Amino acid sequence: MLDNQELLATFFEGARDLIIFIDNERVIHQVSSKSLHQLMGYKPEEVIGQSVGLFYAFDEDFVRLGEKYYHPGAKTPDEPYECRYKRKNGDIFWVEILPSVVHDRAGRAVGWMSIIRDATQRKKSEEESKKLQSQFYQSQKMDALGRLTGGVAHDFNNLLTAMIGHVELVRMKVQSDSPLIPHIDEISRAADRASKLTRQLLTFSRSQVVIPRVLHLNMIIEESRKLLSRLIQENIEVKTKLNSSGPRVRVDVGQVEQILVNLAINAQDAMLSGGELMIATREVELNTARRFMEMEMAPGRYVVLSVSDTGTGMPREVLEHLFEPFFTTKEPGKGTGLGLATVYGIVKQMAGGIEVESTVGKGSTFSIYFPIVEGHTDTEEFRIPPAPEPGNETVFLVEDDPAIRNLNQQILQSKGYRVLTASNGIEAIEKAKGHTGKIDLLVIDVVMPKMDGYQAALKMCQIFSDMRVLYVSGYTKDVTMEHGVQGTGLNFMQKPFTPDQLLHRIREILDSKSAARA
Ligand code: ADP
Ligand code: MG
Repeated sequence: MLDNQELLATFFEGARDLIIFIDNERVIHQVSSKSLHQLMGYKPEEVIGQSVGLFYAFDEDFVRLGEKYYHPGAKTPDEPYECRYKRKNGDIFWVEILPSVVHDRAGRAVGWMSIIRDATQRKKSEEESKKLQSQFYQSQKMDALGRLTGGVAHDFNNLLTAMIGHVELVRMKVQSDSPLIPHIDEISRAADRASKLTRQLLTFSRSQVVIPRVLHLNMIIEESRKLLSRLIQENIEVKTKLNSSGPRVRVDVGQVEQILVNLAINAQDAMLSGGELMIATREVELNTARRFMEMEMAPGRYVVLSVSDTGTGMPREVLEHLFEPFFTTKEPGKGTGLGLATVYGIVKQMAGGIEVESTVGKGSTFSIYFPIVEGHTDTEEFRIPPAPEPGNETVFLVEDDPAIRNLNQQILQSKGYRVLTASNGIEAIEKAKGHTGKIDLLVIDVVMPKMDGYQAALKMCQIFSDMRVLYVSGYTKDVTMEHGVQGTGLNFMQKPFTPDQLLHRIREILDSKSAARA
């Protein structure tokens, strides 16, 4: 058996925590040598007789904590405090220190006995949980924001549909040499820009209807060039270098346009005094999976779209935050910080990837990887449609927004259609019941109060079994997700659209043999 003295020594020496005794001047008198070596890398003789300041990584901590805990009359604190220590080899790490005042037999305070514990691990897990928490808040914030923008964009889409449509009606009614034509053109152009902006908002809030098609990427780029040449200032030379083979990708045309426009506008902003904007495509094959940010690209073949500028380039601090929503280095009113966040969202959705190279003062290159798909091209997207054909069929319009209902009615009547209207599903069913003739096509808004478009259409198809249905909506998370518009035979049209687009679509549905119904 050990005697008391030996037992005490075992406690002291066996302790995993470092135990030290320091006097009122904070000079070290006694240490637990085993843990001293483990924690600090010193031998007892290297520290005994020295100030405990030797252990502190920063002098100001030594002074500050001394004033707080180690002055005459200081009490034993209830909680340990934390600070950074420095090992003999120079490593700095966090410790947790709990000092207790030591009294002599006469009751005078003669120093402190401190228990010192390595806090590296705890600090690390605390930081991790803090990071997780902030990511969680961030994602909640984004979610709320997405809902808000989605809602605003929805209402705005309705307004735009009415504006675009009425402008076109005005155009039909004025003479082709009227001095009003340039003004009508300007209104059209502005409305067009506004509808691009709402599309951007909808992508950001992920409530845009995405209709991916198998296409040649180069074709979309050729098409978008016109759009870019209007957007980009003249002191910037826009060049394209497209690969010849033109492999196919599965994308939504609007989204690719959006990627291009966002990257091109950023490039322009980085070249205020002019420069060169290069848009290029090439094919690459990845033999192993590659990771960039949270995106993982599977091995396989990709088309890479790269947008390069000869602008300012980006320092590391900017690169680190590049894709964060609302991260912008531009003045208020100039930048929203949504451009690259939107690009990131789109690319992630289609299982692609992004790479960024940038040199300060030289320029930047953004490369977007699109997975190549095999299969046929859906080319009809790029046919320029001829003027819409007239019709004499009966079309039933169900739409809760009176401005749009009225507009679509006028558009259809101007082309010879017979038109019935209702402002909601219940009214539509009532009217349909009382209608004696035929109804060829039901054009119905998806999101309506009282009864949604799907339910109403289903009921009406029971009455008119030959009736075809075209669903219309601007805010259609529900369409894609619950009803699966993508890839199914459902007829769907996203707001806002032009009168010509509506007329074409209606003719297309009425003329198709294999009717897709509700
Ligand atoms: P915004 O353009 O509204 O600021 P973005 O998300 O499009 O938001 O871009 C975020 C930031 O990334 C920009 O403010 C800018 O600092 C930087 N950036 C993006 N593209 C480029 C580029 N081509 N050259 C230099 N900096 C860029
Ligand atoms: Mg931008």
